[in-house]
Amino acid sequence: MIDFAGADLETLIRVDGADCGCGRRHAVALRFLRIGSGAIQAAPEALCALGKTKPFVVCDENTYEAAGKRVTWILNSARISHGLFVFPGRKGKVEPDERAVGALTMAYDPSCDSVMAVGSGVINDCCKVLAHAAGVPSIAVGTAPSMDGYASNSSSMIRGRIKVSLYNECPAAIICDTDVMRRAPMEMLLAGLGDMLAKYVAICEWRISRIVTGEYYCENVAGLMRRSLRRCVESAEGLVRREAEAVGAVAEGLALSGVAMSFAKISRPASGLEHYFSHMWEMMALERGEDSALHGVQCGVGTALTLRLIDRLRTKTPDKAYADAAVKAFDERAWETRMRGIFGRTADSVISAVNSEGHQNDPDRHEKRISRIVERWPEILSIMDEELPNTDELTGLMRRLGMSVTPSDLGISAEDTSGAYIGSRVIRDKYLTSSLIWDLGYENEFAELAASLALGD
Ligand SMILES: [Zn+2]
Ligand SMILES: [Zn+2]
Repeated sequence: MIDFAGADLETLIRVDGADCGCGRRHAVALRFLRIGSGAIQAAPEALCALGKTKPFVVCDENTYEAAGKRVTWILNSARISHGLFVFPGRKGKVEPDERAVGALTMAYDPSCDSVMAVGSGVINDCCKVLAHAAGVPSIAVGTAPSMDGYASNSSSMIRGRIKVSLYNECPAAIICDTDVMRRAPMEMLLAGLGDMLAKYVAICEWRISRIVTGEYYCENVAGLMRRSLRRCVESAEGLVRREAEAVGAVAEGLALSGVAMSFAKISRPASGLEHYFSHMWEMMALERGEDSALHGVQCGVGTALTLRLIDRLRTKTPDKAYADAAVKAFDERAWETRMRGIFGRTADSVISAVNSEGHQNDPDRHEKRISRIVERWPEILSIMDEELPNTDELTGLMRRLGMSVTPSDLGISAEDTSGAYIGSRVIRDKYLTSSLIWDLGYENEFAELAASLALGD
């Protein structure tokens, strides 16, 4: 068995997969991963590793300047013919929607045999959709270590003005040149760290869910994430000085988050309640036609918020009678009204998914979970002790680095914070800290706490 936390990148992406003590055979579709100074020079090598000869290069105006120009120069020097598409218009304002994918599709040269995305979140997401539709592999040339979607097998898109995840394929190759990435806007570097801090909550909730719901868990994959997170936090102070070591740690951590999700075949290793705060805030902004902060920035805020909630939760002693009474008092109609207030026009699909798939409000399922929670509460508390950092120390670090810490730092209101908290439990069938709190009968108390934490800690 391979110890993921001790393995190098080459070993981790071995295409033949790896048998693991968890009983699963882990594998990742990623075939080429190069991170470091000058990594962009490896673009021809990446194509060669995939057996491809003609990439369709996609950038926006910013990323063309940051790396696209250089990529095309490197391809030309290696006599590799390629297509090129640069999203026109106001810098950095490409939305991952039908319009963007339509523009790409109309420009796509079908004689190309791969798509090379030069950029970060939006460019990669759109390119994965295009590559999937065209039936060719995609290659990600990252320009900022700002989010953990580089190696994921889905694209976070906007369809019909609603945020959706489209499942396609993980890029076949990822190149993260730290010389390029360290020149990215500071907000994007800090966003990447915010997305890594999320892993504290993600791993903690994954272990708790194993106890409460019996969900699959792999300690080896969790260990890989812990190692990456530790490296990021240890070098975090160097990020504001744009040190290669710190930028490389975040870039690697984000790429390995995708690898870990592929290994586990679920998003558990990389995302927990903090990501759901982010998803909810993005959905709310979209509904109102407003802009959102970067995904990773929101995840950092969501992490600080979740840690505060868990700090309160640790002071509680589960009381089954209290929890049972709360479930008995559950009022379906009042809940639906609340959902409509939070979700607006997406409320119907959320409500029907809860009733037909997730069954989050089902009393029989609650009965099973609450019994396990009460019985194994000491174990749940020790998982929190083992996995989570001291909240004040972490928020202190975030403040020192100039990161956003509270929802109000992002202009998010107390009402949207409590709404996001309540909505988090039902937008997907995933057992989160907010699910645990609902099971214990404390939802209203913690929704109020979330609202008060929105303003400051
Ligand atoms: Zn495993
Ligand atoms: Zn993320």
